[in-house]
Amino acid sequence: MNILVTAGPTREPIDPVRFLSNRSSGKMGYELAAAFAHAGHSVMLISGPTALDVPDGVDFLPAETAAEMHEAVARHIGRMDIAVFAAAVADYTPATIAPEKIKKSAATFTLELVKTPDILGSARTPFGFTGTLVGFAAETENLEANARDKLGRKGCDLIIANDVSKPGIGFDSNQNEVSLVYPRHTEALPLASKHDLAHQLVQAILELHISQRL
Ligand code: C5P
Repeated sequence: MNILVTAGPTREPIDPVRFLSNRSSGKMGYELAAAFAHAGHSVMLISGPTALDVPDGVDFLPAETAAEMHEAVARHIGRMDIAVFAAAVADYTPATIAPEKIKKSAATFTLELVKTPDILGSARTPFGFTGTLVGFAAETENLEANARDKLGRKGCDLIIANDVSKPGIGFDSNQNEVSLVYPRHTEALPLASKHDLAHQLVQAILELHISQRL
C-alpha cells in the first residue's frame, strides 16, 4: 500500500537568520515511517527539519515551512491509501519575512503572525483524500474530548492522542503513552518506547484500513 507520513516541526522564518518553531523531534513520525516500510509498504515521509536519519526504504521529501508541507502533501496525497499526520505544524507564521536581519534597536518588538494552512484539515476537502486518515492530538487538558472533536472536524478515522502535560512522554522524548480515539470507541495503550509503539500503531492503522474496505 501507499502510505504518506508527515513528521517533525516546521520552521517559520522571521528574517534571514531567525525562525519560529517548536520542540518536536520527529521521532514518532520517523518510527511510524520505518515501521510501515518494515511491514512492506511504500512510504513517503514529508518532514520538517529534524536531526534524524531517513529510515531505510522510505521516500523522503523535506519541507521547511507549513506552507511548503501543505504544498508537498497536496501534490502526493491523491495516490495514497493511508495518510498519517504526525508533524507538529506551526499554527502561526510571521505575516512578512524581513529581507534583512532585524536589528535590536527598539526596547520592544512586536511580530504580527498569521495562521498557517491546516494540512490535516485540508485532506478530505479540498484535497479529496478518500483513504484512511490518521491525525495526532497533543493536548494538556480534556484529552479525549478534544481528540474526539478533532476527529469529527477533520474527517479523520483515528486520532492518536497524547497528554503532553505528563513529564517524560511525547514531545522530544523517546517514550510515549497514547490513546487511540476512534469514532465509536477509545483504546488507551500503555507507556512504551516510540519504536515499540510505532509497530503497535502501524498494526492498528492497517487493521482499521482493512476493516473499512470490507
Ligand atoms: O489542531 P491540532 O494542531 O492540534 O491538530 C493536530 C493534528 O493536525 C496533527 O495530526 C498535525 O499533524 C495536524 N496539523 C496539520 N496542519 C496544521 C496543524 C496541525 O496537518 N497546520
